[in-house]
Amino acid sequence: MVNSSRIDKLSAAAFQESRKLIPGGVNSPVRAFKSVGLTPLFMESGSGSRVTDIDGNTFIDYVGSWGPLIVGHAHPKVLEAIQATAIKGTSFGAPTLLETEMAKLVIERVPSIDMVRMVNSGTEATMSALRLARGFTKRDKIVKFEGSYHGHADALLIKAGSGVATLGLPDSPGVPSSVASNTITVPYNDLDSVKLVFEKFGEEIAALIVEPIAGNMGVVPPAAGFLQGLRDITKQYGSLLIFDEVMTGFRVHKNCAQGLYGVTPDLTCLGKVIGGGLPVGAYGGRLDIMEQIAPAGPIYQAGTLSGNPLAMAAGFATLSLLGEPNVYEELERKSARLEAGFAANAAEFGIASTINRVGSMVCPFFTEIAVTNYDTAKTSDLGRFNAYFGNLLDLGVSVAPSQFEGMFVSTVHSDSDIETTIEAHREALKRL
Ligand code: PMP
Repeated sequence: MVNSSRIDKLSAAAFQESRKLIPGGVNSPVRAFKSVGLTPLFMESGSGSRVTDIDGNTFIDYVGSWGPLIVGHAHPKVLEAIQATAIKGTSFGAPTLLETEMAKLVIERVPSIDMVRMVNSGTEATMSALRLARGFTKRDKIVKFEGSYHGHADALLIKAGSGVATLGLPDSPGVPSSVASNTITVPYNDLDSVKLVFEKFGEEIAALIVEPIAGNMGVVPPAAGFLQGLRDITKQYGSLLIFDEVMTGFRVHKNCAQGLYGVTPDLTCLGKVIGGGLPVGAYGGRLDIMEQIAPAGPIYQAGTLSGNPLAMAAGFATLSLLGEPNVYEELERKSARLEAGFAANAAEFGIASTINRVGSMVCPFFTEIAVTNYDTAKTSDLGRFNAYFGNLLDLGVSVAPSQFEGMFVSTVHSDSDIETTIEAHREALKRL
């Protein structure tokens, strides 16, 4: 790697060992730093906007556990909720009042959700929402967008973003061709292609699933009218519109991306922020659809640890903090400052740059081309990104080790963190 001044001996040794025991040394692929050609940092602790690795290096962190930590690491209110709950028992496999409180809060904040079912990850949320859509419509086909990631269920692992894009594995071995043949992919922000697909297969399409702001090909905002167009087309053909808000839910707006853009899906998938850093997912939506889920209806979905008390407590505490005044305004202000600083730095050094941002999701691409879909995201100079990533780490700033992921600003990034980050970004570009 370039310019390594970090002392990461313990991380390197830890990785050597974990690689013998865990595939690729990690429990989720992009963590391995494989695409950036580095050794992953093993983390020891996190507090507020900072993380510290096992070698004692501290970083201003914009990974935020890949999105959940919108109130930062180890927020005292979240810890307090987890501790107070844990002492009473960690799991019952029976309903608890916490689950009802959580459901109430989600339903109150997301007007399109009349009823919600908690699961344990974003993957489970999208997988279950798809089964529900198929069972409800009695149709098999689904539509997704190229470069979007909706977790690793078979039907959704087709031309996917995130780690599969980072590692260049767009269609995973192990997905049966019979399953893949029911997934239709179209370019993001391309309503004409969506229309053509529906003209041809509309009567067979159970659902269209979309990240209302794409966050797994880097950050790509929806073009004006795109989401409403999807709403209109799916309605016309009797297909369900599923918003995968696993990343955007409660991150970009108190009513999620659907509140920001004023478009109402039939079903919504949630994850990340609603678990406050514990393993959680959820799916919810229209009453007549949700009532088809067992035991209310015939469509099966279950989970030993679903609605886990610790996860409910952490999520509820996080959502409560997000309910305080001016939270999203402050996230917007700090993130806009970050974007402006990054843009000025790129201009200073004449580096090709396009910065996409919606609220606290920020993504600098190394391209001059407007990034509106996966193809244009791929015009980014990945060699440059990799060098930039290493430079940033050396300068004490941690971002996701992939061009196809965004940065997440949290409520506890201070103005001074933001200014330090802009200065580190400037130096990282200067060293390219
Ligand atoms: N959907 C989206 C939009 C995501 O960003 C992710 C994870 N990055 C998932 C689904 C899958 O969530 P999980 O990793 O919790 O299974």
